[in-house]
Amino acid sequence: MKVLVPVKRVIDFNVAVRVKTDGSGVELANVKMSINPFDEIAVEEALRLKEKGTVTEVVAVSIGPAQASETLRTAMAMGADRGILIRHDGELEPLAVAKILKSVVEEEKPGLVIMGKQAIDDDCNQTGQMLAALLNWPQGTFASKLEIGDGHIQVTREVDGGLQTIDLDMPAIITTDLRLNEPRYASLPNIMKARKKPIAEKTAPECGVDVSPRLKILGVSEPSKRRTGTRVANAGELVTKLREAGVF
Ligand code: AMP
Repeated sequence: MKVLVPVKRVIDFNVAVRVKTDGSGVELANVKMSINPFDEIAVEEALRLKEKGTVTEVVAVSIGPAQASETLRTAMAMGADRGILIRHDGELEPLAVAKILKSVVEEEKPGLVIMGKQAIDDDCNQTGQMLAALLNWPQGTFASKLEIGDGHIQVTREVDGGLQTIDLDMPAIITTDLRLNEPRYASLPNIMKARKKPIAEKTAPECGVDVSPRLKILGVSEPSKRRTGTRVANAGELVTKLREAGVF
């Protein structure tokens, strides 16, 4: 069985994000970019399934500018077998990404798509659900454990009240939560090997998808600054301060 893993190139999670002065978006020039952390978890899970013998091939796909090939190389240095780059410069909404992924799924015919529950740049948490709807495939979102049976997959999901386990027919869409696994580091030899792994390239129009935006961003602003805290000596002083501040 083949697993397709969509991986997005996003601002590195360690970078302090700055909003552009005109409020039209966030500053991307000269900013360190990395693979979306939830997608790294998705790659790791696909690799563990391959190591167990359930999966034969792990294919990473990224939609973005030429530099998104670096994101594919990261996935391949972890162990993905090959990459697909769908070239697009500029913003893409989750619906456009889902439509492109649908065309890749129809071509590649994977038994599973494992992807991040959300991209940490736009925090949309929409693409997996939209892809499942477009393909009419079952979905297991926010997965913290996967177990593959014969033509089925059991997905343990992190829900508000605890854990929910569902059983899906395959092919299916899985989106990863933080506790699914701890991704491996790519070793130097594997980073070198990844340079030789193939990346096929296409554009969004070649996938037959119109990516023109349907949403308009009205403005992007910095979060309000946190007020500085003060240290109190004991609980009594804390209660007094909270009363003075009108908390209760
Ligand atoms: P989102 O719905 O934008 O929060 O993204 C959820 C997941 O969809 C991500 O974790 C990725 O697995 C996938 N995804 C979103 N955008 C892209 C992209 N441009 N290229 C590849 N995968 C993507």
